[in-house]
Amino acid sequence: MPIDPEFSKKLDKNDQHNGHDVWGEVKPPEKLGVHGTNVAVDHDVCNGDGTCISVCPVNVYEWVETPGHPASNKKSDPVRESDCINCMACEIQCPTQAIKITPK
Ligand code: SF4
Repeated sequence: MPIDPEFSKKLDKNDQHNGHDVWGEVKPPEKLGVHGTNVAVDHDVCNGDGTCISVCPVNVYEWVETPGHPASNKKSDPVRESDCINCMACEIQCPTQAIKITPK
């Protein structure tokens, strides 16, 4: 299931991680929530493919280790979400549709 584009209206901000907000239920290692707001990655949808890390022209993402998560043991984390230039490459190319870009 892809990221819910309405996540920020439906979910609560429950945590902070690497400088960004985390939305929804957080219960590691199985439930990790949506990381980031303008650059949002649903860590429960991300399969650790890494396409976003490869295509981002401004290096917004970094790997984070998530051992024990059912979908993958590493995730792409939007650690520099304020650097995003809204090119949409990551959202378009993500194979599991885990990313939602909301231009500021
Ligand atoms: S929209 Fe473009 S600049 Fe922003 S995080 Fe995705 S790939 Fe990087």
